[in-house]
Amino acid sequence: MKIVTVIGARPQFIKAAVISRAIRRYDQIEEIIIHTGQHFDANMSDVFFEQMGIPKPHYQLEIASLSHGAMTGRMLEKIEEVLVKEQPDWVLVYGDTNSTLAGALAAAKLHIKVAHVEAGLRSFNMRMPEEQNRVLTDKVSKILFCPTQAAKCNLLQEGYVDNINYLPVVGDVMFDAAKFYSRHSQRPRELPSDIEIGNFILGTIHRAENTNDLSRLRSLVEALNEIHQTEPVIVPLHPRTKSILDKNGIVVDFKVLKPVGYLEMIYLLKHCSLVVSDSGGVQKEAYFFEKSCLVTRDETEWTELVEHGSNYLVGVEKDKILAAYDKSKSAKIDYSVPFYGNGYCAEEIISYLLKDGCN
Ligand code: UDP
Repeated sequence: MKIVTVIGARPQFIKAAVISRAIRRYDQIEEIIIHTGQHFDANMSDVFFEQMGIPKPHYQLEIASLSHGAMTGRMLEKIEEVLVKEQPDWVLVYGDTNSTLAGALAAAKLHIKVAHVEAGLRSFNMRMPEEQNRVLTDKVSKILFCPTQAAKCNLLQEGYVDNINYLPVVGDVMFDAAKFYSRHSQRPRELPSDIEIGNFILGTIHRAENTNDLSRLRSLVEALNEIHQTEPVIVPLHPRTKSILDKNGIVVDFKVLKPVGYLEMIYLLKHCSLVVSDSGGVQKEAYFFEKSCLVTRDETEWTELVEHGSNYLVGVEKDKILAAYDKSKSAKIDYSVPFYGNGYCAEEIISYLLKDGCN
């Protein structure tokens, strides 16, 4: 069986690392990796291949720094060329980026089966590029691997029918990653030596809705600046966010790091006291490492953690963020609820791909 994996952005490298490692245990599966180039900096791409042992991509498309339409269109054209040449049995796509949609669409038009890892997630905000990408990718997928029961319910509500498509709930591949790489975590070299374990807050900011809207960005930065007066806030900053902050002279008082590798990120997640993030992945990783997360968005795809009480959907208003920060300090959370499976999501995914029923 031949699988073409399409990846291009940081969270996809992390997800694909887990499945790629599992695939290598099967002699009967050949994996061809296409890297679209969406993320290309050494610290947004290469470091993940090195740290996580992802095989060198067979195809590097080097498509980056373009508008959404231009980027997706060029990817579509180039991925199609590769698929025509490789003739795989499956195209495997991850998450919700332009690379996901381009890979899925190129395959569907060639009648090659698409498997979507992290299907069924919804923010119900179709203005988000991620929501557009995931809804459309689900539409053309043959197997929709749902990370949670809630994701499957979203698909059933949209009229998907199990057994026409396949909608297995397999757990979250990011939980597999956290479990496997946790023991290899590394203290970031840039982390100041006076930062003590358990005494800092980890932040990330990169969602377009927070970075393209300067009033939201300012409000979020002000809140983090204020929290930093009480407890150090450490933010490995996405390059796009950094350039917007610099260009607009928005002053940050908290400690900014360059984007860190996954092993360093795990160190920060393990040892912080709280997470403040607008990232899809990081808000769940907080739970994996038994931390609360203030989710600085107006909606989230991972609603179970908000209902559970470990995460707070706070938006970007300073008062709301500060109120949730205070509340989180005294909350007692049960982190043993297995929302995201058992850490063997990759094996389940591969067994579905190999199953005759899906051919
Ligand atoms: N991440 C990382 N280094 C960083 C920031 C994030 O390794 O400096 C990891 C993080 O732990 C998670 C993934 O990148 O596994 C999330 O990616 P991102 O926040 O860019 O995307 P999203 O999850 O929102 O799609």
